[in-house]
Amino acid sequence: MENFEEYSSFFVQELGSKEGPVSPVIAQSASFGYGDCATGENIFDGSVKKPLYSRVGNPTGAKLEGVLAKMDDGIGAIVTSSGMAATTLAVMSIVSAGDEIISIGGLFGGTYALFNETLARFGVTTNFFDVDALEAIEAAITDKTKIVYLESVGNPNMRLPDISAISAICRKHGIALIIDNTITPMSVKPLLLGADIIVYSTTKIISGNASVLGGAAVFRAINVDGEDKFKTSRYEDMHKFIKKMGAMALIPNAKKRAMRDFGMSSSAFSSYLTMLGLETLPLRMDRIVTSVDKIVKALNKEGLNINHPCLPAHPHHERYLKDFKSGCGTLFTIDMGSKEAAFAFLDKTKLPTITANIGDSRTLCLHMASTIYSDFSKDEKKFLGITDGLIRVSIGLENPQDIIDDFLQAR
Ligand SMILES: *Cc1c(COP(=O)(O)O)cnc(C)c1O
Repeated sequence: MENFEEYSSFFVQELGSKEGPVSPVIAQSASFGYGDCATGENIFDGSVKKPLYSRVGNPTGAKLEGVLAKMDDGIGAIVTSSGMAATTLAVMSIVSAGDEIISIGGLFGGTYALFNETLARFGVTTNFFDVDALEAIEAAITDKTKIVYLESVGNPNMRLPDISAISAICRKHGIALIIDNTITPMSVKPLLLGADIIVYSTTKIISGNASVLGGAAVFRAINVDGEDKFKTSRYEDMHKFIKKMGAMALIPNAKKRAMRDFGMSSSAFSSYLTMLGLETLPLRMDRIVTSVDKIVKALNKEGLNINHPCLPAHPHHERYLKDFKSGCGTLFTIDMGSKEAAFAFLDKTKLPTITANIGDSRTLCLHMASTIYSDFSKDEKKFLGITDGLIRVSIGLENPQDIIDDFLQAR
């Protein structure tokens, strides 16, 4: 497995300062003085880059935004109050009533509900597809389609998309591609594979220790001189931002068409805590993906019903070996066959924390059907791969042998 060595120097060097306070400075202020009227005018029209008001940007958040943008080869980023806020920001900055979204994969519960219930109330329709339904996905594109949305790893169905193939469909038809890369920061580089916007829940592995809720959207540069899907009539609403801000246009588009009005802003303290986590992300990720591989193989050998693409029986095993050379994050699932068996197993384990989070320093477990998906219909659960006995496991930093021993004594 490839490790994350290329990021080890990058994060600590970017986040610390060689002069003055070494740790990032917390700009704990809602507003910022402009000094004089002319500067105020220039800050508002964007020609002077100074803080305007913390709802639309804070200096501590800006530091985190710069590092996340560099991590993903983006032109910029916007940090938000949660991962759902990042998804809402990215999506609402593009869609209007009457538009359509194509959503691919074993979607995170909150994102599924946003598309299926909340956006539907505002006249935005979403069609859902499995990662391998490439023909149906292409056939579903209409003049109203504004976004193709996918998750880098199906949570919790563990299905892996062929990102390059889906991205090629989006390029051919000129549709914006948004990728939720929460589970695979550094391992998957969505902008290099053709995505336009990446969203993260930084609550998960990026912060890594349940200390802070947060999210981020990372944006690609607009191709100012050549062809660009956002210059077509499909994205007419954005043209004024491209005209004024050029390559940066996706950022003011998101700020003015979502952040300003919905106010899903990150606090300075949240950005600070997220940066503390980010410093050790490569070390933790390397440790955890190595442990996942070891634990999955050991438990599978002992006859537990494990779902993870490192196992040869997984339908995307070849794709995993080819496209996910640094693993696919902290998750796998165990199917215990029934709710009763899953409860009995979890209640007998000693080491995991039973909670609805993932990507923590500690190993976390959750029975899916009785929690996150409890009010989903039978058909929805079937589509999302939620069976009665399904347990999601997010591996932490513990000794992997301790986890194997604990799970085997609990079965
Ligand atoms: C947790 C999660 C989200 C939502 O993030 P919050 O920070 O909880 O709002 C979105 N996508 C994925 C894949 C997640 O795991």
